[in-house]
Amino acid sequence: MSDNSLRLVWVYPDLLSTYGDQGNALVVERRARQRGLQVERYDVRSDQPVPTSGDIYLIGGGEDRPQRLAAERLRRDGGLQRAVGNGAIVFSVCAGYQILGNEFINDLGQREPGLGLLDVVSTRGEGARCVGDVLADIDPQLGLPELTGFENHQGVTHVGPAARPFARVRLGNGNGTGDGTEGAYNGTVFGTYMHGPVLARNPLIADLLLKLALDVNALPPTDDRWYDALRAERVAAAQQPA
Ligand code: GLN
Repeated sequence: MSDNSLRLVWVYPDLLSTYGDQGNALVVERRARQRGLQVERYDVRSDQPVPTSGDIYLIGGGEDRPQRLAAERLRRDGGLQRAVGNGAIVFSVCAGYQILGNEFINDLGQREPGLGLLDVVSTRGEGARCVGDVLADIDPQLGLPELTGFENHQGVTHVGPAARPFARVRLGNGNGTGDGTEGAYNGTVFGTYMHGPVLARNPLIADLLLKLALDVNALPPTDDRWYDALRAERVAAAQQPA
């Protein structure tokens, strides 16, 4: 980061923002400004090059065909991979998460290469689509409270040895392989199946991204009453019998 200014890049809103994931950009932006940072936000459409000098990159969920198009364009562009090589932070959701991995099954039923930024492989789940509220315990190494979110995906994701599961589900499916894992991360690259938008429900994840960008261990506190009310409502909803 340079001169108190955070460069936040929202990748491909034209293809990957089907489920309100724009909220994640709004939350990171707001929480950064609350800490006195200036924020330069770049919404990068899929016909534009991905800048390589961003601090935090967000990539959202999407339907199967836009997901394939996004993967093709990101592979061709190479900017996101170069940014990660420069130490950038990436937070990805659902289709975005699958794209960051080594491979997923595309809308044509074919194996589509991902960006290889996370050691995960996604296949098509044979069972019912994973839809509903999720509660999960985030990897204790990350020091974050329980994760709440909403999942809606057919793909299931296997976490390889070079990545760690982001969380373990208590309710819901997460990665959907039956091993109880949800999402994955490695260093500064994170993937989750959680929509919601997930950073509005879990603002301390946004703070983790900011801490990584600033290279600090703590941030000034913020008034989180609105977020806490939303979390409490969604945790209660998740625990309702279906
Ligand atoms: N198309 C992917 C799947 O169904 C991702 C869906 C999403 O982003 N919500 O697995």
